[in-house]
Amino acid sequence: MKATSRKQINAACVFNNKDFELAYENHTYSRFKFYLIPLIIVGLILVAFFCLLDDDLFTTNSFITVLAVWAVFIALLVVFFLTLGRFKNFRSYYLIINATELLFIGFYFVKLIVCGNKNFLVMCLEVSLIITIYSMIPNRWLNSLLSSFLLIIAFSVYCAIKPDLLLDRNTNIFGFASIIVFFAINSLNAYHKGYLKRSRYYDTIMLKRLINVDTLTGAYTRAKFNEDINKLIHKARQTGRIFSLIIFDIDDFKRINDTYGHLTGDRVLTTIVTIVTSNKRNADILTRWGGEEFILLLPSTRLNEANRIAERLKTLISEYDFGLDNIVTCSFGVTEFRKNDTRTTLFRRADKLLYDAKAQGKNIVISDVDDFQVIL
Ligand code: GH3
Ligand code: MG
Ligand code: MG
Repeated sequence: MKATSRKQINAACVFNNKDFELAYENHTYSRFKFYLIPLIIVGLILVAFFCLLDDDLFTTNSFITVLAVWAVFIALLVVFFLTLGRFKNFRSYYLIINATELLFIGFYFVKLIVCGNKNFLVMCLEVSLIITIYSMIPNRWLNSLLSSFLLIIAFSVYCAIKPDLLLDRNTNIFGFASIIVFFAINSLNAYHKGYLKRSRYYDTIMLKRLINVDTLTGAYTRAKFNEDINKLIHKARQTGRIFSLIIFDIDDFKRINDTYGHLTGDRVLTTIVTIVTSNKRNADILTRWGGEEFILLLPSTRLNEANRIAERLKTLISEYDFGLDNIVTCSFGVTEFRKNDTRTTLFRRADKLLYDAKAQGKNIVISDVDDFQVIL
């Protein structure tokens, strides 16, 4: 499992598969969005104030100007994050985070230019701190790397145009080296965190898939069926929304195996799942109940309609060319949810109908036509 997840994540610390990355981002965003926004606002305001509080500022007469610059920045920040709440996916979030970070760098240097020079080592410390905070803000690894990198470039340019800021050679080297070390450590840490989170997400999805999806046919498993039918029963009890259930079983499947071998038997199973899947609605849930027996759950569907669907599937399967000498057929039992039904009573009734279909000669649909009291 670990080896597989390693192959899915590329050097930029994102999933190779774009849809998977998007699913991961949306999953992460939906889990964090409630406290992400206040957290980020607090973090960025802290950075803003850190940059405000230096001795030079209070000795210059540009204090009001700088205050105004930061007031504009914080106002923009608030507008940004209020906008952020409106976005439905993580992709827009990344853009806003990066825009904010770049804007912050812009304001930081505007402030420096307005205030004049300050201590070189204090600036190095500030740049290192900003890099650390940027690496902690949830973002794509390359995106936060870009913000930090641009900050270092801007700082280097600033030092180049204001050479009087620099101190003696050793101190300069020490200052720049500290920034680079902060940059490297934080980048590695952010990569590691992003990688581990994606890897864990991938493993969880794969495990869920193993539990919920039958590996041979791609139909759902019993575990998923139990979950889904419980939800449907709960909904039916609360809202009166009736659902139906079709249980079907391949006729004389043992003979297919015995005549053509188990691999052909497997192919018949997967083909039947493909036929049913491509002829059902998206909301309908197909489960491999066991062996060559399947259940199709039909939400918001009454018995008449379910009966029609079963008849159609019966014809589609019996008319399909499986490339065998004999035709392949299925028998069907169809019922709908009744008031006071439990999972067991519903299944037992459907199973009995399927048994009747087998007893009456196979390749037929038997549906529940008894007089019964329904919720509506
Ligand atoms: P009926 O018409 O009464 O349903 O008879 P049948 O032969 O279809 O039913 P039976 O229960 O006698 O046999 C089912 C067979 O399905 C036995 C089992 O080996 C086979 N089977 C179960 N799972 C698989 C599978 O995954 N692949 C293959 N190839 N065969 C399977
Ligand atoms: Mg069978
Ligand atoms: Mg069977």
